[in-house]
Amino acid sequence: MQKTAGIHHITAMVNDAQRNIDFYAGLLGLRLIKKTINFDRPEVYHLYFGNETGNPGTVITFFPWAKQLKGRIGTGQVGVTSYLTPKGTTSFWENRLRKFNIEFSSSIRFGEKYIHFNDPDGLKLELIERDDGPINHWSIGGVQAENAIKGFSGVILYSAQPHKTTDVLENVMGLECIGQDGDFLRFKAEGYLGNTIDMQLNPSVRGLMGAGTVHHIAWRAQDEEDLLRWRSLLQDKGYYPTEIRDRNYFKAVYFHEEGGILFEIATDPPSFSVDEPVAELGKKLTLPSWLESKREELEATLPPVEVRVLEGDK
Ligand code: ZN
Repeated sequence: MQKTAGIHHITAMVNDAQRNIDFYAGLLGLRLIKKTINFDRPEVYHLYFGNETGNPGTVITFFPWAKQLKGRIGTGQVGVTSYLTPKGTTSFWENRLRKFNIEFSSSIRFGEKYIHFNDPDGLKLELIERDDGPINHWSIGGVQAENAIKGFSGVILYSAQPHKTTDVLENVMGLECIGQDGDFLRFKAEGYLGNTIDMQLNPSVRGLMGAGTVHHIAWRAQDEEDLLRWRSLLQDKGYYPTEIRDRNYFKAVYFHEEGGILFEIATDPPSFSVDEPVAELGKKLTLPSWLESKREELEATLPPVEVRVLEGDK
């Protein structure tokens, strides 16, 4: 039985690159680990944020594009992205959100307290404290390693057909259903991060792709062989996975599950240090070899952006 270790990365769409960097790097304290472009649309950035080394299970990526229409969060999408913080840091994070005027609320799910808030484009986020997973040693501004987000706890899936999505999670991705709390079913993966997948059982409106929504969720495969096995399993089960695509930092296949959510399966190797050393991650614009000759032109088109310490942290 094929089993994913959990979430590899999550990709979402937003309108403004600098605002996106200020929020995920400046406020949440994640590291901008890769500044590249959308390989299919080189005039659009592709920004990656993760822990200090960009381990699978920590990475959220964005396509910031100003002209993109606003989407709507709903069925067929990842509804909520949940981040994991070290045990005992909830009040630090509540104070930090208050300091930067981010409205938040809290609720209990499966006996644990989640803090809910939105990013500037309306993406729904949560924080939860747990002992799981290695400490993230990245620090910036007001966020030091002792409080730093370690990576994903998991997600809440908004499936249009929860029983169909359950079938994929259990019988394709190899997750284990471990219980129900009210309207939520919970699935677990074996990895340390991105291992807690909740599914809302009373789906809301139909989601619309666009700014402020998650585009897809990627699950971890160990290597390309593992990925190939998954691809044939998907075909055996009647899905239509894409060919294996080379995303430079991982290889991947994509498929739509029947609840409407775009799933990707992505390999752990070769990782984000394939084209720049760990110490330099995210500092310069990295380009795939076939676009290197257009660097000057691209750099002139893309808006200048920077990782900066927020005013409130100075
Ligand atoms: Zn992806």
